[in-house]
Amino acid sequence: MKYRSILLFGAPGSGKGTQGKIIGTIPGFFHNATGDIFRSLDLQSETGRKFWDYASRGELVPDEFTISLWRQYIQGMEMVNQFHPNSEFVVLDGIPRNLKQAELLSDTIEVEKVIYLRCADLNKMVERLRRRALRENRIDDASDEVIRHRLEVYERETRPVLDYYPKEKIVRVDATMSQIRVLSEVVKTLVPLKESLDENRNRAPIDSGTPAAR
Ligand code: ADP
Repeated sequence: MKYRSILLFGAPGSGKGTQGKIIGTIPGFFHNATGDIFRSLDLQSETGRKFWDYASRGELVPDEFTISLWRQYIQGMEMVNQFHPNSEFVVLDGIPRNLKQAELLSDTIEVEKVIYLRCADLNKMVERLRRRALRENRIDDASDEVIRHRLEVYERETRPVLDYYPKEKIVRVDATMSQIRVLSEVVKTLVPLKESLDENRNRAPIDSGTPAAR
C-alpha cells in the first residue's frame, strides 16, 4: 500500500514548516519535514557531514541519499507506532524537491493533494528566512547569498515538481496572508480528505465481509 500523502509545497520561507507542525497535531495527519530529519543527524557522522556540506551552500542533498534516508525514517516511524499509514495521511514538507525525487517516490507515495503556499513577494520570503536564521540558528539561511541561492534552486529544481502532479490535485494558498488565515485555507482542503478516509475505513469491514463485520 502506498502512503496517502499531502504535499506541502512552496519556496523556502513560504511557511511549510509552520503550517506542517500545526497540521501534524490534528489526529489523522503525520507531519514529516525532511529538513528536520537532516538537522537531527549527528554532524560528526558521515551522513551528518554530507548534509552540512550541501545545506551550508544552499544546495540540495543528492537524491538517492535523501530518498534512502527518508525511507528509513518513515519506516522507523511506522515500526515504533508513531505513524499509522492505514488511518493517517503523511504531510510531506520538503520532499519531493525535484522531479527525480518525485519519480523515485512514485511507488511509495500517493499524493492526494498538493497544497501550494504561493508567495509572489520575494523580499518577504528573504525577510522571513533572515529572521528564522537568527531565531533557529539555521546554517542554510546564515547569509543573504545562501538565501538567494536557495531561492534560485527552488525556482530551477523544485518548482517543476508542480507540473508532475495532476492540476486538479493542486490547491493554491496565498502564503502572504496571516498564519491563521493560511491555516484555515489549508484545513478547509484537508477536511473532506480526512472524512472520506474515515468513511472508507468504517465501511471496509462490511464490504469485505470479514468475520469482524458480521
Ligand atoms: P526550507 O524549510 O527553508 O525549505 P528545509 O528545512 O526543508 O528548508 O531544508 C533545509 C536543507 O536541507 C535544504 O536546503 C537542503 O540542503 C536539505 N534538504 C531538505 N529536504 C531535501 C530534499 N528533499 N532533497 C535534498 N535536500 C533536502
